[in-house]
Amino acid sequence: MKKFVSKVLTTLSNLFFPSNFSCLFCDNDVEKGKIICNECLQDASFNKGKRCILCDMPICGDGDVCDFCISHHKAFDKAMAPCLYADKAKNVVIRLKTKSEKYLAPKMAQLMATRFLEENLSVDVIVPVPLSNRSMEKRHFNQSQLLATELSKILKVPVTNSLTKTKETSSQKDLNFVNRQKNLNGAFSVTDKKSVFGKNVLLVDDVITTCATSNECAKTLKKYAKRVYVLAFARRDYKNL
Ligand SMILES: [Zn+2]
Ligand SMILES: [Zn+2]
Repeated sequence: MKKFVSKVLTTLSNLFFPSNFSCLFCDNDVEKGKIICNECLQDASFNKGKRCILCDMPICGDGDVCDFCISHHKAFDKAMAPCLYADKAKNVVIRLKTKSEKYLAPKMAQLMATRFLEENLSVDVIVPVPLSNRSMEKRHFNQSQLLATELSKILKVPVTNSLTKTKETSSQKDLNFVNRQKNLNGAFSVTDKKSVFGKNVLLVDDVITTCATSNECAKTLKKYAKRVYVLAFARRDYKNL
């Protein structure tokens, strides 16, 4: 009887949530252990080409650093993102954030962990980019926190929520980097300094755009932390804003 009930529950849950053996991007079946189907692996939304060594922005030409990083100092040590904010990857971000399809987070975190492990960096603690109280009330969950929790399970690194957003800020949508930075100035604070003191921190977000948010978070964390690396699911091209 127990077995039957569990089978019914699994079948029912598969009706509402695609199984673990479905592609993150298109929900089609994939082989065990795979996250993306062969067709979607060809999708343009992977951040695979030549990228800026500081912010993971796709670049062309001879240099290793993008124009933006040359002209704007970054408080973090390095940012990484396995996908571009485009096509199927963009759709996944929107599904998680606005449709609360939380079952996507473990697979998104798998892709993020793979990208992070390519760099051979060592981190002591994971910190999600926090939402303000107003945004939390509106959305009821923080997508970055979900991703951080899943990453913690994969990387076996603890999560701390000691970074908080203490200032309500207006929407960043129509602002350029300088104005985004001004808008966020002093918006974050660290509640438990010990949790990040002298440590290498992995700051986790769903999307990085101009890096204004991750930069302000890193600036705040770096008052205590040794290094701050940023890991997001998708990298948005700031030139396409
Ligand atoms: Zn697919
Ligand atoms: Zn850059």
